[in-house]
Amino acid sequence: MTVHTPLRSIDALVARGLVAPERREPLDAVARRYAVSVTPAMAELIDPADPADPIARQFIPDAAELVTLPQELADPIGDAAHSPVEGVVHRYPDRALLKLVHACPVYCRFCFRREMVGPGGDALTGGKLDAALAYLASHPEIWEVIMTGGDPLILSARRLREIAKRLADIGHIKIARWHTRVPMVQPERITADYARALLIPGKASYIAVHANHPREFSEAARVALARLADAGHVLLSQSVLLKGVNADVATLGALMRAFVENRVKPYYLHHPDLAPGTSQFRLSLEEGQALVKSLRGHLSGLCQPTYILDIPGGAGKIPVGPAFLSGCETTPGVEAFAEDRHGELHRYPPA
Ligand code: SF4
Repeated sequence: MTVHTPLRSIDALVARGLVAPERREPLDAVARRYAVSVTPAMAELIDPADPADPIARQFIPDAAELVTLPQELADPIGDAAHSPVEGVVHRYPDRALLKLVHACPVYCRFCFRREMVGPGGDALTGGKLDAALAYLASHPEIWEVIMTGGDPLILSARRLREIAKRLADIGHIKIARWHTRVPMVQPERITADYARALLIPGKASYIAVHANHPREFSEAARVALARLADAGHVLLSQSVLLKGVNADVATLGALMRAFVENRVKPYYLHHPDLAPGTSQFRLSLEEGQALVKSLRGHLSGLCQPTYILDIPGGAGKIPVGPAFLSGCETTPGVEAFAEDRHGELHRYPPA
């Protein structure tokens, strides 16, 4: 096994000491249902002696995944309902997803597309890629294209350049956005050459980097992020609010600061989706709002993400607070009460 080979089976995780041998049987059942992969970079961060290790919780299978609740959905954010052609999701008029591949270097235990991703997950090639690009080219209202999957950064630099060249020819697309976990989970892939391969000539380039815990910012991950920023990409964050991983103010605050220190602007903090077998990660919206409110009180404005709910079934993303204004219909001369970071209310007059 080379140093860069991910651990892709329960046997491999047992051999590496990340799973106790007596857990092999139930976890084999999980692995038959959902894909498993832990990269060396993530395996190195796991403390096998800590049963609550937040990195392990994100990547090591758990028997709780075999429990699917009635409200959980195979396609929780409703991609299929908005897919006019294979590989494209066109939910909002001015932007579209281009799903380039359905595989990832790691498989997150809370993944919102866990029913669609896995090893050997289809790459969009040949006639299917032609049809997807033809759709984007024939819809002049599409201003932004979001490359996602799976994780598009498992593709080679040569392949990315081919796709970039074809996207560059679509004049009405002005913004290219890549969604990826690779800089954190497989940072050795991000060479300076690879970072340049992600630039699409003539388009502004954004990369939304997925990380959920401050410990994911290893030295190698910091170097990978610096290479992307130095190549000219604007870096944004994407995190999922996860019980047992980052659902406390100290961890969430440290995560947001780590992003900002590495030139990644906090963007989205997702409420966990209703993906099957993921209830062990979910907290209530009210708990999430309280955490985000605490961030507002403790951290620089640069460190504030938008707390987002993807409405189950495909109706789209909405910000879900918390609210700092409460309406006032009863006090003359007061339109609203504004809550400061100490929880004190201040009168705000009508316009
Ligand atoms: S990297 Fe993204 S698409 Fe891949 S398993 Fe994790 S959450 Fe799912």
